[in-house]
Amino acid sequence: MGPQGVGKGTQAALLSTHYGIPAISTGDIFRYNLKNHTPLGVKAQAYIDRGELVPDELTNSIVRDRLAKDDAAGGWILDGYPRNASQVDALDSMLKGLGTPLDKVVALHADRDVLLARMSRRAKVEGRSDDTPDAIARRLDTYERETAPLLDVYRDRGQLVSVDGSGDVDSISKTIIGLLG
Ligand code: AMP
Repeated sequence: MGPQGVGKGTQAALLSTHYGIPAISTGDIFRYNLKNHTPLGVKAQAYIDRGELVPDELTNSIVRDRLAKDDAAGGWILDGYPRNASQVDALDSMLKGLGTPLDKVVALHADRDVLLARMSRRAKVEGRSDDTPDAIARRLDTYERETAPLLDVYRDRGQLVSVDGSGDVDSISKTIIGLLG
């Protein structure tokens, strides 16, 4: 978990290689569906372009389907989910159903100026439709309002591992792996 631009996707990919388990990014799944104009992509487009959360019903169902796939049976890394309190509840019930507990939640943090600089760089490279200044500001505000409070939920459960995401990619990855064991 962490705000946009903190490096969740990059670190999830490195952890995926290290542990040999899939990284499941709801943002990537949405972007794939947008690009291919699937019914899911069409439903999600306006929310994503505005920098708002896609409704829980849609988001929860893509995670539920993805976690049920064979390659997720031995473990997984969720990137960008859960993002609000109702997604935490939905994930709890999915995992109960699957009989696979959540081990740890990795929270990455960095100052807002670091995040803004990274996102404006990424906007130039990737041309994401939601990396406009307005959408970026809205996504960071949504993170602070809806997602950041969830860190306390996982801290209270003793599952939170908090890591500074502002350094270089490899040392952050080593720190996370060291803390996860
Ligand atoms: P990301 O790449 O994780 O920043 O996700 C890009 C966009 O996809 C977000 O700004 C949301 O519009 C949507 N999205 C990704 N994950 C979620 C989620 N867990 N709940 C709702 N919307 C999401």
